Amino acid sequence: MTRPDDPPSTDLVPVPSAPGASDRRAATRDSRPGLSGMDSDALREWFVATGEPAYRARQLGDAVWGARAVTLDDVRTLPAAMRDRIGAAFRFDTLVETEVRDADGGRTRKGLHRLSDGQTVESVLMHYPARADRRERDTLCISSQAGCAVGCPFCATGELGFARDLEAAEIVDQVRWAARRLAAQGRRLSNVVFMGMGEPFLNLDRVVDAATAITDPLRFGLGARHVTLSTSGVVPGIRRLTKLAPQYTLAVSLHAARDPLRDVLVPLNRRWPVAEVVDAATEYQVVTGRRVSYEYVMIDGVNDTAGDAAALATLLRGRRSHVNLIPMNDVAHTPWRASSDERIDRFSATLAEAGIGATVRRNRGQEVGAACGQLAAERAGEPPAHAVERRRQRILADSARALRGVRSPDPAPEGTGR
Ligand code: SAH
Ligand code: SF4
Repeated sequence: MTRPDDPPSTDLVPVPSAPGASDRRAATRDSRPGLSGMDSDALREWFVATGEPAYRARQLGDAVWGARAVTLDDVRTLPAAMRDRIGAAFRFDTLVETEVRDADGGRTRKGLHRLSDGQTVESVLMHYPARADRRERDTLCISSQAGCAVGCPFCATGELGFARDLEAAEIVDQVRWAARRLAAQGRRLSNVVFMGMGEPFLNLDRVVDAATAITDPLRFGLGARHVTLSTSGVVPGIRRLTKLAPQYTLAVSLHAARDPLRDVLVPLNRRWPVAEVVDAATEYQVVTGRRVSYEYVMIDGVNDTAGDAAALATLLRGRRSHVNLIPMNDVAHTPWRASSDERIDRFSATLAEAGIGATVRRNRGQEVGAACGQLAAERAGEPPAHAVERRRQRILADSARALRGVRSPDPAPEGTGR
């Protein structure tokens, strides 16, 4: 039911009529900073420099961080002429339009956001009903880059390749989008996870700025412990974050405990091998006191054997950590599928015997393409059949070599060496 005081929804924009490559149209990027990427001091300085009283900055800030205003025109506390001047200098929202898809009877909601230059990124809002031991939760998974340079072969974003880093405001505005949707239903966002498109630790400055805005009590104000940063293993980035000693949860995408296989599943492993990644993550845990989560996508017959489980148990033994086992979501162009429940249970049991906690995390919203980057990949258009076949053959050849214990000779993918 729509109440008269519900904020107008910008989400219900028409679905683009001709999905395909044209959706990645090259528009000119809007150079005006997004307001949600600015801190309160910077905003106040701008107002003072333009001859306006400082309290106007607070009024604008309230509108940016409140859940009611969708456009600058909705900020009626500011005079129209002032709104025009603000609009000429800044963007109230950096998400130009959002297409929404629902799944799980509305419990999973996926937003495909178009940015000013036509790039598209995704966020996924998941509702978890209350259980005996937990309150209800609304978790948002957000993107940090358009595409990704790491190129994990089971990941739809990896197949898209890298387009560009997101600005801090483009990251934060995904959170504001979700908060507005939830507020219309009388709910609040409880958790934010950087597990959408992109490798957050290859865009770390903007990601840290965005996470700061999300957790700043004067801005979005979510508790730092309710923010999770996920990485495929950018060791220098993990070390830089450790120096800041935040209270964010660090999630590390492992997917294999042995180098030859991880070289293939997470190509960054050729630059920063698994032992270095886990050492850097352990240092984060020691300095921050936060338990590290390890993500492990379960791929049938590839990384789910007894040997893999034993290697993972050896790698993590004695470290304060938790493993999330995620049955692989089907993505279009891989030769692989998810491990069976039975294999996952056996894997999990091996970890338990070594004293390592593990949870099986069933992915939500598969029917709306909620796996990382799937919807954007769909929009980017279907590659030619021969390219898909070549990709499948290459993945099979690489993993066969890895399963024989041979390390990949190739350098880490371009664009990941920053
Ligand atoms: N680049 C970062 C964060 C984004 S990916 C990282 O890799 O950690 C977030 C998570 O989604 C990662 O753990 C990734 O491995 C997982 N993921 C990607 N494709 C998947 C698929 N097809 N099925 C299940 N999980 C997938
Ligand atoms: Fe990039 Fe993460 Fe996907 Fe790997 S899993 S390609 S690092 S987004």
